[in-house]
Amino acid sequence: MSLLRRLVLILALVIASFCPEASGDHYPLRVHFLDVGQADCILIQTPNQRSMLIDAGNNGDEEFVLSYLAQENIEELAVVVGTHPHEDHIGSMDAVIDRFSVGRIYLPPVVTTTETFASLLSAIKRKGLNINTAKAGVEIDLDPALSVKIVAPHSGPYEDLNDYSVVIKLTYNRVSFLFTGDAEASSERRMVTEGTDLQADLLKVGHHGSTTSTSKQFLARVKPKYAVISVGTGNRYGHPDREIINRLSRFQVEVHRTDEEGTILAVSDGESIKIIPGKPAPRSVVSDEIIVYITKSGRKYHQWGCGFLQNSAIPRTLQQAKKEGYMPCSACRPPQ
Ligand SMILES: [Zn+2]
Ligand SMILES: [Zn+2]
Repeated sequence: MSLLRRLVLILALVIASFCPEASGDHYPLRVHFLDVGQADCILIQTPNQRSMLIDAGNNGDEEFVLSYLAQENIEELAVVVGTHPHEDHIGSMDAVIDRFSVGRIYLPPVVTTTETFASLLSAIKRKGLNINTAKAGVEIDLDPALSVKIVAPHSGPYEDLNDYSVVIKLTYNRVSFLFTGDAEASSERRMVTEGTDLQADLLKVGHHGSTTSTSKQFLARVKPKYAVISVGTGNRYGHPDREIINRLSRFQVEVHRTDEEGTILAVSDGESIKIIPGKPAPRSVVSDEIIVYITKSGRKYHQWGCGFLQNSAIPRTLQQAKKEGYMPCSACRPPQ
């Protein structure tokens, strides 16, 4: 570098440090992937200091999520999105709504009968909020410096609740993020065939790195530089799946995992992204519920490893499986 260029660069840096306005916005975009174990919780803080929450961890993450938000001096969440009504995504959302002021809440057009979902609906009602339907084509007005677009779900019907996951593409100048919830291959295929612009620098990997998501076709369209996997240490599902980790490395994606790095912070000035890993939080047990597996067509529930699980293995808590009328398999003798 010539002396003149060096001087110009130093002068530019000095000017920039005295006038933050010179760079456009006052604050960088900050995206926090909270370490909520086998679950999702993402906090977005925008250049004009608005806050948005995508998912809120498990029921057991309440204390951590509330204190994390308080520590970030959040008073109001302009937007809260529940990607889909599974416990590992909306678990602590009722507590968040009770504690903080909330502008708008977005949920996909799908319901479930769990207690967790019922408590979320009660919290929304207590607060006098209306639910905004999250579906492909909806734009979220969060911050004039950003574009926040919902790119899924498209209308179903889908077999799995995961495919109703709200998928959000956030763009800040030249940098984009894609947040996918637990969207699986069916929803991914739909986004691809609809011709949606999916390109993103950072991909929040779908469904905790399960093989049911992050199909090759989808990944080829997103072409991320970075991937974040929100996943619990020693989880029962074997997430993230080796196949997905290998696929991401074949696509030359730099992978960050909450089970290895703890809460991950992605900071952007609209030109590039800087990833700041944290430390994994000490976590004694992921969950003390007993998990069994059912199949797509059978009426029995099984232990992991049972020969009847070759074609499909759908996790259920033991309690849930019994409630749904499944009987213990006589071959693998699961807990009763
Ligand atoms: Zn799910
Ligand atoms: Zn999930």
